[in-house]
Amino acid sequence: METKKFEKFGDKEKDIEQLELKLTKLYSDWEQLKILWERAGIASDPLRLDETTKNIEKFEKEIMPVLVELLNIAGVERERFYESARKIRDENAGKQIQVRGAIEVSNICRANCLYCPMRRDNLKGSKQMRMSSDQIVEQAKLAHEAGIKEVFIQSGEDPQMIPVVVDALRKIKSDHELQELKVVLNLGDHKGSDYHLLAKAGAEGYLIKHETIDEVLHKKMRPHTSIKERVNFLLRAREAGMYIGTGVIVGLPRQTDESLAKDIIFAGRLGSWKMVSCSPFTPSDETPLKGTPPGDFWKTLNMISIYRHLFPKARIPSVSNLDNEGLFTRPADLTITGQSAAINAGADGITINITPPEIRKNYKIYDTENKRHIVDFSKAERISEETGLPLDIQE
Ligand code: SF4
Repeated sequence: METKKFEKFGDKEKDIEQLELKLTKLYSDWEQLKILWERAGIASDPLRLDETTKNIEKFEKEIMPVLVELLNIAGVERERFYESARKIRDENAGKQIQVRGAIEVSNICRANCLYCPMRRDNLKGSKQMRMSSDQIVEQAKLAHEAGIKEVFIQSGEDPQMIPVVVDALRKIKSDHELQELKVVLNLGDHKGSDYHLLAKAGAEGYLIKHETIDEVLHKKMRPHTSIKERVNFLLRAREAGMYIGTGVIVGLPRQTDESLAKDIIFAGRLGSWKMVSCSPFTPSDETPLKGTPPGDFWKTLNMISIYRHLFPKARIPSVSNLDNEGLFTRPADLTITGQSAAINAGADGITINITPPEIRKNYKIYDTENKRHIVDFSKAERISEETGLPLDIQE
């Protein structure tokens, strides 16, 4: 009996040793890839596959099996993997939780993503809301007064909001109290000239999640567009002078682990070193995907941990729908919130929702029977207590 126990312990030690060897190899391959990407100037055309990128593709294919394995890591190896991610985060991104204040400025969207309740097909049945530039500035003031250093302005893909947000940005950046407030945007796909206006008015960053790099799946989930077009918008936002971030939905119907591994490699090709994200697929009501299984909780956290190992300085958010009631893959015996578990897997960011309640209740992203999980200050404090990390908020 005793021998068996020790044998098992020995096995675990061996597993950890194996994991460390795999990670060391992955880091060195990733560093090599970064050099090759840089030399080929791949960040300006990250979907490029041609003669000159053949050597790069060979390397990329070699790391795929390790990425797939890490996406499925469990038990003591997972604990060790997360521990290493926390160490990397603390050393590179800071030993604290970055806090953003989210202002949801319009729930009107011309896009028609299959997984989203705010899709164009649902417009008729919803109460349509748009904030004015003064309302946006007002919320930015509230965020600033609460010590938040960065606001995240997000919206359905609503071209009418571009001049409104530009105006709000100008007002924020010309207000001597607010001008230090950083502004990151998530407004969807727009003309290059719009991105230039937003950047000129003071937006620092722009998030466009590519969602999935799988061309066929992308078209199925986002029938109004294509992965190629989506990536072009990311590039245009960067050309306009903003830093960009991309991200993925984990667990879309028919998505494979190989596809997720390619998503990670794509983020590297793109050079999304400042901001990278993933969130579990949540099958919302009022969408064609209602009733399909949600994304896997641990796989999402494993992906966060992989991101932290490969994008050490990036802002990696712990997203609110890790605590969405519709996410039934969240382990029932988890003693902390899903968002805290993600911070413990290597994430470093949370977003507090500072949208006025009457507007917020009509912003139905991730909604399932009106059970969208909203992060407020008390939830942020809970995450801080559960993870033992301070919130990066100005006193
Ligand atoms: Fe519109 Fe964004 Fe929803 Fe797609 S995910 S339908 S772009 S709000």
